Amino acid sequence: MITGKSYIASTPSSSTGNTFKTFDPQKNADNPWVFTEATEAEVDLAVNQATEAFESFRSSSGEQRAALLNAIADQIMNLGDALIQTYCAESGLPAGRAQGERGRTVFQLRTFADLVADGSWVEATIDTGDPQRTPAPKPDLRKMNIPLGPVAVFGASNFPLAYSTAGGDTAAAFAAGCPVVVKSHPMHAGTGELVAQAISTAVKQVGVHPGVFSNLNSSGIDVGTQLVSHPGIKAVGFTGSIKGGRALFDLAAGREEPIPVFAEMGSINPVVALPSALAEDALGWAQKYAGSINLGTGQFCTNPGLILGIASEEFDAFEHHLQQAFEDVTPQCMLHPKIKQAFDSGKQQASAQSGTSTVVSEMEVDTANYASPLVLKVRGVEFLANDKLHHEVFGPYSLLVSCATEHELLTVIKNLEGQLTGTILATQDDLSGKHDIIAALQNRVGRLIFNGVPTGVEVCPSMLHGGPYPASTDSRFSAVGIHSIKRWVRPFSFQDWPNAQLPQELQDANPLGIRRLVNNKWTADGL
Ligand code: NAP
Repeated sequence: MITGKSYIASTPSSSTGNTFKTFDPQKNADNPWVFTEATEAEVDLAVNQATEAFESFRSSSGEQRAALLNAIADQIMNLGDALIQTYCAESGLPAGRAQGERGRTVFQLRTFADLVADGSWVEATIDTGDPQRTPAPKPDLRKMNIPLGPVAVFGASNFPLAYSTAGGDTAAAFAAGCPVVVKSHPMHAGTGELVAQAISTAVKQVGVHPGVFSNLNSSGIDVGTQLVSHPGIKAVGFTGSIKGGRALFDLAAGREEPIPVFAEMGSINPVVALPSALAEDALGWAQKYAGSINLGTGQFCTNPGLILGIASEEFDAFEHHLQQAFEDVTPQCMLHPKIKQAFDSGKQQASAQSGTSTVVSEMEVDTANYASPLVLKVRGVEFLANDKLHHEVFGPYSLLVSCATEHELLTVIKNLEGQLTGTILATQDDLSGKHDIIAALQNRVGRLIFNGVPTGVEVCPSMLHGGPYPASTDSRFSAVGIHSIKRWVRPFSFQDWPNAQLPQELQDANPLGIRRLVNNKWTADGL
């Protein structure tokens, strides 16, 4: 049952503060639940409880953390249809998407459970000492990853489950041994509360300190600002706009003790459509891209918002087929009226830029909160001269850029901001001669795709979901996959420390049987 309360230290909080409601974009009406915004005192209490919980949680065993993560996954499944219905009522997304995202969320939790149960993720590294070494004895050094401390997680509007309350950031932080204080996203506070109940039940079931988890309601920036400024918070995870992510990054950097902010923000995911691929199958690529641009009403950070080509018959054919493929597209609902307003003003601003023309005209849409897709085109020279065309328009939108020459195409790529993904459509023979284009694109993105679409982010260890700024605030890390745990840890060394006092991961006998780098050789054997 949704109560509208925040959860502090895994317990519903009874404070009274400002209230707000979530919105059903399909019904174009408020949802019935009333949420109470967390007060300053509640934010403070949540962080203080997280700080207290860190004392024990930081040294909890991999098995305990795995039990917590698996219990959260079980409890989320136990929420049943109530979770799916609330998700749909707060996002306008269909039940199939809600079920798919719940599956991904549970998969992420269980994957992290397996990772910490195995234990090798700490990257234990041992260099045994040599007291006889001359001229100076060599110390015994042992290094492993340890948790940073309480983490603030900002729920994402476009992933109410997989990147919100129990999403990838939270799962990775718990796996690392960090307590989590979630700043629930105001657009899906009910979904957030149900998941908060699941986490709170799991916390009690497993018997870890209840302060490991809090979920704070808010419908404005105050709670998030206080949270990131709080000295007890040691790192931040965020998914959303460049404006929001950058504001939090600057806030964290300006603290007396600066802390890392791992923000995954906007991206236009450039696609380089070379004539060789389009000569083979312009129709097929146009159909695939019409699908990708409209997937999830274009509300994915990997939406292909920029398609670069070389002025040619092949690029003209692609444009023609794309236009036709959009004739089969029916408008879909957006997440919230505010996201729709931002989409409409983004489209308006892009259309008003000099040199743009329409490829796919806006459709008549008579249902509130439904988006009319838009595809524009512009010449490379005009794109290069106008930064406003480089911005993300969050929704079913894309811009075709027709470059006069391959050299101009290369210049366009070199002038792009950092991106999550880059895609090249080409024949294999053609690709082998395009080193400059590949290198330039690799320098701007976190993931390169060959002959595919950027939408669809596989959750697996080799996935890199991040990229140079402003795609993310730190391109060295991924927000997806088990390696995302590295955002919440720091490497730490013990020197000449007594064996019995070392964490099990670093003890001579290797009681956990983990894989370690011992004197520069990988082994699971004891010393
Ligand atoms: P957002 O405006 O960036 O907000 C995300 C979260 O951060 C919200 O909980 C928000 O709190 C909080 N926040 C934002 N600015 C803040 C600040 N200065 N200080 C403290 N907290 C702050 O993103 P959104 O609400 O999800 O959607 C708005 C736009 O973001 C979209 O139209 C789209 O352009 C973009 N977006 C991009 C992606 C992507 O993956 N590329 C994903 C989602 C959204 P409140 O809402 O309570 O103010």
